[in-house]
Amino acid sequence: MSRATEKEIEAESRQCGNKPPIMPFYVPGTSIRGPFRAQSERIIRSLLPEGASHPYTACDPFDQVLGCSELLKKEDGVTRKKYAAACPACKLFGCAGLASRIRFTDADIEKGYSSVYRDMIGIDRFTGGVSTGGGGGSGSKGKGANMRFHVLENTTFTTTVTVTNFELWQMGLLAYVFRDFEEGLVPIGFGKTKGFGLVKGEITEITLSYPEALTHINHIGSLMSNEAERADYGIHPYEAPPFGNPPVQKNDGFSLYKTVTVTNIPDFWAKTAPAFNGYVKELVRQAPEKTT
Ligand SMILES: [Zn+2]
Repeated sequence: MSRATEKEIEAESRQCGNKPPIMPFYVPGTSIRGPFRAQSERIIRSLLPEGASHPYTACDPFDQVLGCSELLKKEDGVTRKKYAAACPACKLFGCAGLASRIRFTDADIEKGYSSVYRDMIGIDRFTGGVSTGGGGGSGSKGKGANMRFHVLENTTFTTTVTVTNFELWQMGLLAYVFRDFEEGLVPIGFGKTKGFGLVKGEITEITLSYPEALTHINHIGSLMSNEAERADYGIHPYEAPPFGNPPVQKNDGFSLYKTVTVTNIPDFWAKTAPAFNGYVKELVRQAPEKTT
């Protein structure tokens, strides 16, 4: 491994015929969103019986037959029916025909990182030695398989996660995903098997915005007027829990919406996680009836 200055990186970029980087480094929101969805799917699948099928466990979004994007085409175009028919992961992260309820902003890399190169070599799968390229049966024509990666180490970045019109179990699912993220179990970006993308994070602030003053962690189900409406959308009934500590209200002059800052973040997750537990129990109860 060799240390590289930004000037050296620029020089190498020019040698390769690329323009030197003029923008600061950043992590695209989509690169954060993907691993969060994958971790959500893992959590859901690990809690549902192995034989559970659509829509009682997370679908494979790339499955051209059994993925929600394909299956939801059969619904009659009414959005609420599509939502009711989607799998738990697609209900939050969306799929073709159903908008996502969660979004991640691009995250600028903050200064103070180490800029290094990592050199790697390809392995010949037959001999176990260094690949010399060109001689294999796969049709490769390179002269060896040396790879050089530019890596930023010890970086920090901040993203904002926005969830709109959520069900409480979706917040509960995020409680589990964020806990895994805090423990470094959600790698981000390219080359995870090469050891890249290891990241740990923490939630530093939660703000809630509602059309009226709130004393409870309200969610879309608790705001619906009747049981028939909840059933139409397939909303999981769950009583909105009160806050452990009253949130701090910001007075920004726009009185139709109240935006409040959650003062006790661990309490917020502790209040929302049981909603996901209850939702999973309900899925487990329903799955065998509908799929056998
Ligand atoms: Zn799905």
